[in-house]
Amino acid sequence: MHWDIEADVVVVGFGAAGACAALEAAAAGRSVVVLDRFAGGGATALSGGVVYAGGGTPQQRAAGVTDTAAAMFGYLRTEVGDVVPPETLRQFCDDSVSMLGWLESHGVPFEGSLCPDKTSYPTNRHYLYYSGSEVSARALAHPAPRGHRTRGRGTSGGLLFARLAAATRRAGVQVVPQTRAVRLITDGGATDHGTTDHGTIDHGTTDHGRVTGVECRSLRAAPWWARTAHRVLHQAARKPYLYVPKAGRLMHRPVGWLERRYGRPLLVGADRGVVLAAGGFGASRELLRAHAPSARGGLPLATPGDDGSGLLLGTAAGGAAALLDRVSVWRFLSPPPALLHGVLVDADGKRVCDESRYGAAIGDEIVRRGGRAWLFADRATITAARRQLRGGALWFQRLQAWYLLTFGRVTADTVAEVAAKAGVDPDGLAATVAAYNAVASGAGSAMPGSARADPVADPAGKPADLTVAQDQPPYSLIDFSIRPRLMYPAPVLTLGGLVVDHGTGQVLRADGTAIPGLYAAGRSAVGLCSRSYVSGLSIADCVFSGRRAARHASAAAQVTPADS
Ligand SMILES: Cc1cc2nc3c(=O)[nH]c(=O)nc-3n(C[C@H](O)[C@H](O)[C@H](O)COP(=O)(O)OP(=O)(O)OC[C@H]3O[C@@H](n4cnc5c(N)ncnc54)[C@H](O)[C@@H]3O)c2cc1C
Repeated sequence: MHWDIEADVVVVGFGAAGACAALEAAAAGRSVVVLDRFAGGGATALSGGVVYAGGGTPQQRAAGVTDTAAAMFGYLRTEVGDVVPPETLRQFCDDSVSMLGWLESHGVPFEGSLCPDKTSYPTNRHYLYYSGSEVSARALAHPAPRGHRTRGRGTSGGLLFARLAAATRRAGVQVVPQTRAVRLITDGGATDHGTTDHGTIDHGTTDHGRVTGVECRSLRAAPWWARTAHRVLHQAARKPYLYVPKAGRLMHRPVGWLERRYGRPLLVGADRGVVLAAGGFGASRELLRAHAPSARGGLPLATPGDDGSGLLLGTAAGGAAALLDRVSVWRFLSPPPALLHGVLVDADGKRVCDESRYGAAIGDEIVRRGGRAWLFADRATITAARRQLRGGALWFQRLQAWYLLTFGRVTADTVAEVAAKAGVDPDGLAATVAAYNAVASGAGSAMPGSARADPVADPAGKPADLTVAQDQPPYSLIDFSIRPRLMYPAPVLTLGGLVVDHGTGQVLRADGTAIPGLYAAGRSAVGLCSRSYVSGLSIADCVFSGRRAARHASAAAQVTPADS
């Protein structure tokens, strides 16, 4: 095989997982090439830059927070379940302090300024917050704020990626932009496409042999203007793609055309391993339709690069995929935090869950109830919510909350009337509100077997300081349903991916055997956040899984030993 470029480790995709894999392989003394269809960054650069970490990080200690790896493990076990073995989760928790230190050593800044409120994302004053449902799970594990937001204004994922990218280049890694991986090459030949005619994943059972390289289509040799147009058009389409996907897709069309027209084959050889770190599949309507129907009505949190190509490259080489139906659908009630005092109900007027849980957990509960839910709130709650919005939120949070408190809300003087206006069962709502108010005023009774320590326990588990009676008319029902709405979309993140060995990051076949030379990381793989996402767990998993894959690949035997 004649390779145009050759390296010990070849990484496909230059987001968080790819950058961390490249840094780790370079630190092990290996030559590394990173390929990216665009300029790198992916979803990581558009993200909030929150990294889930704990066990007593310097930032937690600076904020006066007590945390242990055992408490972190106790909580995450409730979120992660059995998608990774307990020993993998334990290792993630035990290594969390050093993982954050590793990121800092590569220039990613964090800060121990603790956010006083429960929020979907802290403002520029705070960089440490409760980014999951830790307080709701306080009976199971000592709660601690573990959302470490990269210190930088706005949504700080851009800064996180910029620092990782700079470190990668400093480490001598060769980054090849505008180069799309289209096929894996094995010692049994090139692999095929990994989907069936119906768009479903074709779980390869064929043994194609060892992965030795990647076939790409690259714009490296394209005219300068085509490369510039490709870069500028992709850059311009990224945000519209996120917020108004139809417009984004339209804007991105010429990018695909340029790739088809000017892309030329490029063969990249990998002496020790290929790491697939090409993101998720939120941008593939075909894959979403086939595997994640619960994402319907949601707004995929994806870039055009999240077209599932990492997944398909892996399955075509014989890899198995799992948890493709797992998507995280986000429904945050706070900010404004006053809304956490309200009561979330479904169309039958029944309570949905503890309103103070993390937005993805609430989203999950709403999806389970057919996608429809409303927050019942009284006059005092709405007044407090309006007041809070003046300062304590970022612009997009303010815009969404403003919409919810105006167009997204119906109001009436009685519970029955407001239920009728929203289309919620009035008897069910009346019963739920009466029970909630009884608990809030201290007259309710603890649920039998409830593990709560509060004197009068809310059956759903909401902390006592947030369980506030909703008894002052007029009453409101705010529509938190999951359906397409420009002003209040429901963000959706794909969580499943290639099945990997959680000790090494190697991609596994359906029979559990590892494909030699092939690794997957980040959202191209099944990882710590593949069952349920809490803010920061995806990027933390990218760091963990990217480094793990690179460590193993770096230590792997060469395809063609230098001395042969
Ligand atoms: C708005 C938003 C906010 C978020 N906030 C957070 C947060 O605060 N914390 C958190 O943990 N998670 C957050 N997430 C989720 C998180 O950002 C992603 O899950 C994570 O960054 C994925 O990282 P990755 O390295 O797997 O993929 P990406 O960062 O998406 O990188 C994949 C790269 O692969 C490239 N690529 C794709 N296909 C190919 C191919 N065939 N050949 C070559 N290159 C290819 C892409 O161009 C891209 O650069 C957020 C997501 C969004 C969109």
